[in-house]
Amino acid sequence: MAEAIVTMDKIVSLARRRGFVFPSSEIYGGLGSTYDYGHYGVLLKNNIRSRWFEAMVQDRDDIVAIDSAVILHPRVWEASGHVGGFTDPLIDCRTCKLRFRADKLEDANCGRKPSKRPGETPECDLTEPRQFNLMFETTVGALQEEGSRAFLRPETAQGIFINFKNVLQLARRRPPFGIAQIGKSFRNEITPGNFLFRVREFEQMEMEYFVPPGEAEQWYRYWIDERLNWYLRYGLRRSRLRVREHGPEERSHYSRGTSDIEYEYPIGWSELEGVANRGDFDLTQHAQHSATKLEYVAPDGERYIPHVIEPAVSIERIVVALLVDAYDEEVVGERERTVLRLHPEMAPVTAAVLPLVGKSDEMVSKARGLYEDLRRRHSVEYDDNGAIGRRYRRQDEIGTPWAFTVDEQTLVDDTVTVRDRDSLEQERLPIGAVRDWLDDAREREWTKNGDG
Ligand code: ATP
Repeated sequence: MAEAIVTMDKIVSLARRRGFVFPSSEIYGGLGSTYDYGHYGVLLKNNIRSRWFEAMVQDRDDIVAIDSAVILHPRVWEASGHVGGFTDPLIDCRTCKLRFRADKLEDANCGRKPSKRPGETPECDLTEPRQFNLMFETTVGALQEEGSRAFLRPETAQGIFINFKNVLQLARRRPPFGIAQIGKSFRNEITPGNFLFRVREFEQMEMEYFVPPGEAEQWYRYWIDERLNWYLRYGLRRSRLRVREHGPEERSHYSRGTSDIEYEYPIGWSELEGVANRGDFDLTQHAQHSATKLEYVAPDGERYIPHVIEPAVSIERIVVALLVDAYDEEVVGERERTVLRLHPEMAPVTAAVLPLVGKSDEMVSKARGLYEDLRRRHSVEYDDNGAIGRRYRRQDEIGTPWAFTVDEQTLVDDTVTVRDRDSLEQERLPIGAVRDWLDDAREREWTKNGDG
């Protein structure tokens, strides 16, 4: 079977059409590269968050959760290096008034038609690159006075480091142990774009894993594998994932080793998640700037500053990867359908319950009964509106793995059909067995057709 060509435009259009993601502030003309999530987008994000939290916290004994503030003491960002160094080189064009990242000029288009690379037309008038800090500034309190300047966090990691001591004492942990956090981060990106891939407001899922210095390399490799396996488990194709290790010149100031888990997005191979060996950089910096000891004292009296391994990703980049990987178009019985082959534990809706004839009181009542029973345990949707074929196609487009249909025969023998989104096979089940069937089906191992 030939695979459908997946473009970012198709994904944006499906996301919009089916109410996953809307351009933000649309009635005011929109605010570039800012998005709002509709019902199915919210359900999808909830699932991503839950699967991550299960894998990182719930299923383990060595990682605890935290939820720190978005606005932290401004000195946090001095210690972390963000005030001085969290910058991208920026170039302005005096003619077309566009801004470009100096290190990404080869990917940019100038404002003239036909568009070329910035600097390639005789009219282009580029400034010298200057450093632009990506942190959003704000003012705390009513007066804009000295000392009221603060920042929206550009990463969640620092909220973890500054709580190291609290967790060490109160959660009674000893290295190796981790602290995980999910929350919004803000970066004033110079060139946001490619749908949700690069936005100014995004939700990060980060975990800082504190280890004895001698074990850092081993845990760094361990977390690369763990995170890669998480993507495979939730259905991303192996052929579209790769691990790319940064060269020394590419690494951040704090890093002793960084690997990107890259996904082959429609824009090409790009960073989905980063796994970094941050060494003792962060704890050392905060210890110096805050004059607080941030170290581990072993029962035998040995003291050391743990080293840190950090897997960091945004929900947005996972949303795009899941949608791209799941998107398919095919012709079935001379009709085209678009289908999202999402993993059942990621799909916004797990099952639809449909009376074949929406106007049949008997079918409606059976279907509603089944729906009420299932909704207590699963994300299910009831729909009796319109032709059955159209209802199936709607569920295909939002990626619902199964549909239970109540038909004539149900009224005779209390069985329903279950339709499988991927194979389109239908089988009959006693209505009373549906709940258990769905529990099992959801936990069954799942792979995309044709991908081992
Ligand atoms: P890039 O090089 O793409 O700007 P980065 O290396 O600065 O990203 P990190 O600081 O390592 O990114 O951030 C950790 C993770 O946060 C990234 O792997 C990515 O999943 C996510 N992320 C970073 N910036 C954005 C953004 N502007 N929009 C959406 N997700 C982002």
